[in-house]
Amino acid sequence: MNLVFLGPPGAGKGTHAEILSKEKRLVHLAAGDILRRNVKEGTELGNQAKSIMARGELVPDALVNDMMFAEIRSLKAKGSEGFILDGYPRTIGQAEELDRFLTREKMSLTAAVNFDASEAVVIERLSGRRICAVDGKIYHVRNMPPKTEGICDCHGQPLLTRKDDQPETIKTRLAVYHESTKPLIDFYFRKGILRHVAADGDAPSVQKMLEKLFENTR
Ligand code: AMP
Repeated sequence: MNLVFLGPPGAGKGTHAEILSKEKRLVHLAAGDILRRNVKEGTELGNQAKSIMARGELVPDALVNDMMFAEIRSLKAKGSEGFILDGYPRTIGQAEELDRFLTREKMSLTAAVNFDASEAVVIERLSGRRICAVDGKIYHVRNMPPKTEGICDCHGQPLLTRKDDQPETIKTRLAVYHESTKPLIDFYFRKGILRHVAADGDAPSVQKMLEKLFENTR
């Protein structure tokens, strides 16, 4: 099963991709996480992406496409059971290139899941989001707090706020979503593979809906 998770930043794509990928033995490929890893390691891609990401804008399609295709190719070589693409594609151009790539690789998408979340909810989620500095695990100060305030459960390290989760950058990221990414809902609807999940609720209830969508799909 190969899935795409769509939705605004803060809709819960990363959280639910992490859970569903474990249940269904899929590989979770989060474009933002892979880019942040490149920034941290100071690769050429990371250096090109760093300031763009800090502003909350989109990294050019060609860079992100090559990065994601390399990830998918390596999964295929390892014989994985499928993937969840989280935060990719984010533009119509990326979606079209992804289609061409998958056709060349004799692969296809099973579904594109749209996480339908209201603006007020995503702003609340993004501004309270904290991440583990070691593995990027996501917490929230109220909805998903760590056992000890401000400290990661797994590594005992202080939790961080992402640079792009600052109020001004959140505004830019939401504007970018509306302009460039939202049209993908229609793109996948026309392909007949769009599914919706109401994503304003708490994580367990959203997860239940998601599991129901794919209970009989491998
Ligand atoms: P995310 O962790 O998904 O919120 O992504 C963080 C940042 O990485 C975004 O604000 C963009 O700057 C960049 N990014 C992630 N995915 C993409 C993509 N598919 N296309 C372009 N830029 C991306």
